[in-house]
Amino acid sequence: MRAWTSPEVPDLSELGLGRGSAVEVFDTSTGALTVADPPDRARLYVCGITPYDATHLGHAATYLTFDLLQRAWRDRGLEVLYTQNITDVDDPLLERATATGVEWSELANREIQLFREDMAALRILAPDHYIGAVESIDLAVALVERLRDRGVTYEVDGDVYFAVHEDADFGSVSGYDRATMLSLFAERGGDPDRPGKRDPLDCLLWQAERPGEPSWDSPFGRGRPGWHVECASIALETLGEDFDVQGGGTDLIFPHHEMSASEAHAATQHRFARAYVHQAMVAYGGEKMSKSLGNLVLVSRLRADGRDPVAIRLALLAHHYRTGWEWADGDIVDAHKRLARWREAFAAGGPAAAPVVAGLRQALARDLDTPQALAVVDAWVDSALAGRESDDHDPASGRVVGAAVDALLGVV
Ligand code: ZN
Repeated sequence: MRAWTSPEVPDLSELGLGRGSAVEVFDTSTGALTVADPPDRARLYVCGITPYDATHLGHAATYLTFDLLQRAWRDRGLEVLYTQNITDVDDPLLERATATGVEWSELANREIQLFREDMAALRILAPDHYIGAVESIDLAVALVERLRDRGVTYEVDGDVYFAVHEDADFGSVSGYDRATMLSLFAERGGDPDRPGKRDPLDCLLWQAERPGEPSWDSPFGRGRPGWHVECASIALETLGEDFDVQGGGTDLIFPHHEMSASEAHAATQHRFARAYVHQAMVAYGGEKMSKSLGNLVLVSRLRADGRDPVAIRLALLAHHYRTGWEWADGDIVDAHKRLARWREAFAAGGPAAAPVVAGLRQALARDLDTPQALAVVDAWVDSALAGRESDDHDPASGRVVGAAVDALLGVV
């Protein structure tokens, strides 16, 4: 599927600024920081949207986090291979289409287009592979066949299930105990209470055709793939086994990332991803931003209200990805003020640029510490705007700091 147009990213090494250092990120599966520094090419998979509603700030925060990781990797001198999926056939989409009287594929196409526009406006780097569930049915079918051939599947009334305990690594992504798994599985689209399953945690690989729902041919009969096998198969096809980072929101840790990793491991006997990195939830009005609660702050709404998308980006960057936070309506006003000062200083110049570039790189390399990165730029901007007459004022430094902020934070 067509993605969107990526912004240009300045190559700081071409400005004589050398390369960034190795990047550390927090791996959910080990509960510790890990160095994500492959020798030449970094491979990243981030779970994409289910296109039944517009992009809210929680989504934007997730895609921004992995945009920063890519920028840090590029600055390190690495090539980046990035895949994102679109779950363009799934229960929530079909339910919304039925409820609103819109054809499901039309609803999906409309929301995917809005997502592209939001991502481009926020200056988020586009994936190299942007792949929908519908266009990758054959990949999912092939993975279910591999699992069947390994003897780790069974059927319940025509639906194909993955027997999670056939995989020795099941549970290693989340580390959750069984009670937590059961509760989250019920809450997040699983079916722990279905009669006939061997274990309540076993998950759907292939769902047999239901009346009025889209379906495709397969060796298991007509139907459609489960969500977890969709991501597992797309990642294996485009990135291979043992890729560097699997990313998404913390609400994907279980069951989604656990199940996709386990299915891939059961099929290949190789590790799915080396690290699992998760963006904390963004709240609004006292609750986690979610479609079901209806407390969404939409990127498209802020844009329609005349907010500069770069200021939206800057407002999100003020929070570290691992700390949950609550959006306040004043955040965007503060971000506009900060952005105006930064732009003024980039145009005017200020103290030497090299320490700012080093500080930015150091902040991002330490688990994408964006609050620290913003503090580094703020300090330089304060000096630049206060000391235009001072001896250390260099008119050319603004261009260099501006290029570094563009390359590493995507802010221009
Ligand atoms: Zn996924």
